[in-house]
Amino acid sequence: MSFVDNNFTVPPPLTVAKFGGTSVADHAAMSRSASIIKENPSAKVVLISACSGVTNLLVELANGIADSEQRSQRLQQLQTIHQNILSQLSNPETVSGDIQRLLNDVAALATQAVHNPSAQLTDQLVSHGELLSTYLFAQILNEMGARALRFDIRSVMKTDSQFGKAIPDTDAIRQQAESQLNPLLTNDQIIVSQGFIGSADNGTTTTLGRGGSDYSAALIAEAIQADNLEIWTDVPGMYSTDPRLAATAQPIKEISFCEASEMANFGAKILHPSTLVPAIRQQIPVFIGSSKAPEQGGTWIREHVEQPPKFRALALRCNQTMVTLTSLNMFHAYGFLAEVFRILAKYKISIDLITTSEVSVSLTLDQTDTGGGAPTLPVAAIEELNQLCRVDVEQDLCLVALIGNKLGEAPGAATQVFGTLEQYSPRMICFGASTHNLCFLVKTNESREAVKTLHHALFE
Ligand code: ASP
Ligand code: MG
Repeated sequence: MSFVDNNFTVPPPLTVAKFGGTSVADHAAMSRSASIIKENPSAKVVLISACSGVTNLLVELANGIADSEQRSQRLQQLQTIHQNILSQLSNPETVSGDIQRLLNDVAALATQAVHNPSAQLTDQLVSHGELLSTYLFAQILNEMGARALRFDIRSVMKTDSQFGKAIPDTDAIRQQAESQLNPLLTNDQIIVSQGFIGSADNGTTTTLGRGGSDYSAALIAEAIQADNLEIWTDVPGMYSTDPRLAATAQPIKEISFCEASEMANFGAKILHPSTLVPAIRQQIPVFIGSSKAPEQGGTWIREHVEQPPKFRALALRCNQTMVTLTSLNMFHAYGFLAEVFRILAKYKISIDLITTSEVSVSLTLDQTDTGGGAPTLPVAAIEELNQLCRVDVEQDLCLVALIGNKLGEAPGAATQVFGTLEQYSPRMICFGASTHNLCFLVKTNESREAVKTLHHALFE
């Protein structure tokens, strides 16, 4: 199919759509998501997550559950989730053999994980969530009268071999997409494939990290030069703050790449933080919507938006660790920060925010652990830093980020924000390095109230 326009034949628009775990949780959710695809002729490539809850179960098994009864219980839960969907298919026999084979694989790998757990084995095991869900989703699309083709993305999604957080090789992905995916796009069919998983040079299975399906979809959209990327989840797009924090949160219809990246980085959980990187590189507009309520619309993220507001949104990220380094030697000295960063780099400690005064520097540590707890400084790093300065570590802090536009130039923005927060004690205020955000730390127990108060003052 192609559109004829002024005698030039332009290719029809191409959309990559991604559905998260809750959008493929069961037969009903999968059917709703499949309808969204069927109704959009440009949606030719669909990437999906594992069914809701499945990756968590697989991670538990991959950690090695020695108690065989407990292990069987998890395996039974996996069996039930997939069996329930199978049993509602019109022709379950088309895929039941593949489903059973994969579930048997999971059981064997889970036993292996008891004796020999490893990051490599974990990736191999958890990849089964997406391998399973794609068989079922493709079959549902076919039963709805679409022509769906299940495709194993591992041959295209090439990565390095850092298991659990593999780095995609964008050149290799583009080459593989050109040779393997593009030829399939010419046919009148829908490619159904896996988010989150990939493979290293030698073919071993890797994963992009928890929540990585969004990132997968963006990488594939970039590789096949799609016109749009749709991320279907369980909320109708981005809000001025998390509606669970403030019921008065307002939906955002349109937001720029810059603002949305800030939101993703500062903890708006709706998008995996890396998702926008490929979209920005290839200038692909991204839509976020709810597969439960597609009629509600959602958020479009694009390069430019009309009339970007001064204040766009408030994000909250908890489990922060603040490290304050104090030394009188820092006063008018050179090389102090260089030395601090050399030590931090030596211990592979990634820094998020930083503020400095004449005699001290405060920093927060990046959340690298997918477990979600507050990051810690290794004892050896503290000892080495102690030779240079006093080291104070504080936890129980949350980061509040105000995202907006030209915040530095907006007269009175800081007064408005900090005037509102009089009864709180914001720490480590970062303002000015980016014109798109102003952020600070508050105690965990006052963080939700601080966001509510600020939202009320700035957005309502
Ligand atoms: N299934 C994976 C996870 O739960 C990837 C994803 O859903 O994005 O982390
Ligand atoms: Mg997700």
